[in-house]
Amino acid sequence: IIRLEGVEKWFGKFQVLTDIDLTVAPGERIVVCGPSGSGKSTLIRCLNGLETVQKGRIVVDGIDLTGHKRNIDKVRAEVGMVFQQFNLFPHLTILQNCTLAPMRTRGISKEEAEATAMKYLTRVRIPDQAHKYPSQLSGGQQQRVAIARALCMTPRIMLFDEPTSALDPEMVKEVLDTMIGLAEEGMTMLCVTHEMGFARSVADRVIFMADGRIVEQAPPQQFFTAPQDPRTKTFLGQIL
Ligand code: ATP
Ligand code: MG
Repeated sequence: IIRLEGVEKWFGKFQVLTDIDLTVAPGERIVVCGPSGSGKSTLIRCLNGLETVQKGRIVVDGIDLTGHKRNIDKVRAEVGMVFQQFNLFPHLTILQNCTLAPMRTRGISKEEAEATAMKYLTRVRIPDQAHKYPSQLSGGQQQRVAIARALCMTPRIMLFDEPTSALDPEMVKEVLDTMIGLAEEGMTMLCVTHEMGFARSVADRVIFMADGRIVEQAPPQQFFTAPQDPRTKTFLGQIL
């Protein structure tokens, strides 16, 4: 469902992604980890057209992102993204945050969009917050709204960029539980996270990045017990 071939990206003279080859199958759950500045965010931002690349090919759900410019809009409709900072619209209610994109880009009626929004807000267990504003919610609740908002577009793939790292510890679990629920439903997921417990129990494959390259990838069991590359070993030594 995702294929990257020989992807290279520079920010000016700085090469941020080097020689990235990656294939993700439908329903696969991938955790991406690695040191700060290794290119994790840039990699997943490339998958929904938030960043463009200078070389190589990126195909998402059959759509070639390195081809026509208008393909980016098509891909964004299929790919949901959740960020470290929740990025909710502060001047809109929770319900309006969830209905805006489906109404604008899918031409869905307000009634239908609201019904869908309530369905997903119920799933992330905050239907009672629908008429509040983001600033009136806890961080964990805001992040669950961000997940519900992405789901309202009925994406085929969900991308997460450190969704729990801005949260107080007691709120991490409620967000991870939501993500585990999605994984159990068979969602294709790519998660940048340093929550290694999540990686162990949910991921089909863990990808380790360093200096803009995929240095190592393996099923969690193998990744955590028998890392091959010295950089992976150093990294695991620091965070485990
Ligand atoms: P972190 O764990 O800190 O989030 P990361 O692995 O997500 O790090 P990226 O955000 O992908 O790393 O950044 C990779 C490198 O690219 C860093 O050296 C960063 O400074 C650089 N970089 C990222 N965005 C830009 C940009 N818009 N312009 C120039 N350099 C950038
Ligand atoms: Mg990052």
